[in-house]
Amino acid sequence: MCIFCEIVNKKAPASIIYEDDLSLVFKNIRPSAPIHLLIIPKKHIGSIDHINPEDELLVGHLLYVAKKVASQENLLGYKLVVNVGKEGGQEIFHLHIHLLSGWNNARDKDII
Ligand code: 5GP
Ligand code: ZN
Repeated sequence: MCIFCEIVNKKAPASIIYEDDLSLVFKNIRPSAPIHLLIIPKKHIGSIDHINPEDELLVGHLLYVAKKVASQENLLGYKLVVNVGKEGGQEIFHLHIHLLSGWNNARDKDII
């Protein structure tokens, strides 16, 4: 079982800030921004490269969750990033959207 599936199944700890039937949002253990959340489907999907036609709505739902969580956390703006494949910087092969925010200095946000 992958580490994010373990978090979904509450077999590994995480600082969870949002959960619904289809998705989970938790804090990144090694943040690259003052606010760095990970939005994941509860279903194990390796990456964007592994999505199937039946996953289309689920992947759209993850973007809706990003908006919902940003509103819940009173974020004025944020950056969404998806790394795809080893060459794309992906280390954990359970699909996730990085939600980055909270910079004070506008220049610091240009991390990607
Ligand atoms: P990737 O490079 O695959 O797009 O990003 C994976 C992210 O997951 C990394 O930013 C890393 O810090 C984060 N991460 C890896 N393992 C864990 C973990 O066990 N718990 C949490 N909360 N984040 C993790
Ligand atoms: Zn998984």
